Amino acid sequence: MTKIDEKLEPILDEVLRRNAGETEFHQAVREVLESLGRVVAKHPDYAENALIERICEPERQIIFRVPWIDDEGRVRINRGFRVQFNSALGPYKGGIRFHPSVNLGIIKFLGFEQIFKNALTGLPIGGGKGGSDFNPRGRSDREIMRFCQSYMLELHRHIGEHTDVPAGDIGVGGREIGYMFGQYKRLTNRYEAGVLTGKGLSYGGSRARKEATGYGATYFVQRMLEKRRLGFEGKRVVVSGSGNVAIYTMEKVLAFGGTVVACSDSGGYVTDEAGIDLDLVKEIKEVRRERISEYARLKGSGAHYLEKGSVWDVPCEVAMPSATQNELSGKDARVLVENGVIAVGEGANMPCTPEAVSVFREAKVLFAPGKAANAGGVATSALEMQQNASRDSWTFEQTEGRLAEIMGNIHDTCAETAEEYGAPDDYVLGANIAGFVRVAEAMRALGVI
Ligand code: GLU
Repeated sequence: MTKIDEKLEPILDEVLRRNAGETEFHQAVREVLESLGRVVAKHPDYAENALIERICEPERQIIFRVPWIDDEGRVRINRGFRVQFNSALGPYKGGIRFHPSVNLGIIKFLGFEQIFKNALTGLPIGGGKGGSDFNPRGRSDREIMRFCQSYMLELHRHIGEHTDVPAGDIGVGGREIGYMFGQYKRLTNRYEAGVLTGKGLSYGGSRARKEATGYGATYFVQRMLEKRRLGFEGKRVVVSGSGNVAIYTMEKVLAFGGTVVACSDSGGYVTDEAGIDLDLVKEIKEVRRERISEYARLKGSGAHYLEKGSVWDVPCEVAMPSATQNELSGKDARVLVENGVIAVGEGANMPCTPEAVSVFREAKVLFAPGKAANAGGVATSALEMQQNASRDSWTFEQTEGRLAEIMGNIHDTCAETAEEYGAPDDYVLGANIAGFVRVAEAMRALGVI
């Protein structure tokens, strides 16, 4: 673990004390504070007026009961969250996650990451995150609708196009956003398109939003490789996960000439000697909503499903962890390095453990942290807000063009910032510092609030 500057140590101690047991949140804060030593050494004024302490404390945290009735007529209870972390740059912005592992610490880590990620996009969006410990797996469409409606029945009073703009995340896609938007519209009697992003194209969504996180992460890694006169062409790529981020990462990797050799879900992973057949993955995950094990069964020869070991055991030159937090351990990182990985791009939020990140750093593997590499999703959400505000709708090409440009800028900002602070090629440091400086500038200008 990198050492924290002694001026910043008491800040971390206070975060640990005040947020006991929230391990993922501690991890996310520690990583940012590790990078900020160089900033406060150069600009001590950023440490004035408890600015860093304020960034670590959410502006508002909302926790609520979500009752709903299942198909058997039983009343179920889940817990809903929305953490409105920082609104210095714009309305709170960030997704909603439905997953049984969700708790306050997870939502706070995601909200905290979101502040810097959103700042890096250069667009006017603050940071927030929400979710519930609701498990959508195996739930009928009607149960999903009732749950979304109940969740929104409380959430609607806390959000708005100028206040807080939620979107999707794990377990929340177009279907869930549709049900939530419908309920918001009914409760408020307002067609306020800009209150949610990730909407369907039939009611105010943006083209390329669905593809944006995966495409964006791939653009980022492509740029990182390009700067070293490398590219995806002919490279073996492992993409973990098989949800929205993973699927559109695979699509762009294929478009850039790479071969996807494996993908996964929480049950296991699949390999295919012919390269992963993306149409089949889409059919299984987007249409049938089934497990990835179905892939091997449907594909037959050449395809294998494995439950033992890890998707990171599959040799590759580029790894794109796109499933969930802490899915890639120090041990996995060492296996990847031994197998000759040259670049890692985080499509998910914080998928590599701190130990894994230091293994990559020591081995001089190009490493793109999630808050920079996966910012394409939220950036395109901000483009969706722009289209909604101007009552306009852009073409796919136009929207993807903006996305590619934004990802290029984020890459260059991180690289230049790392260089400026004396750590060339350290994208973690570059992303944390560049994101922080943007938020810090705005917070200073707004006074102690
Ligand atoms: N959940 C996504 C993320 O982690 C997207 C958030 C959004 O579009 O607001 O960035």
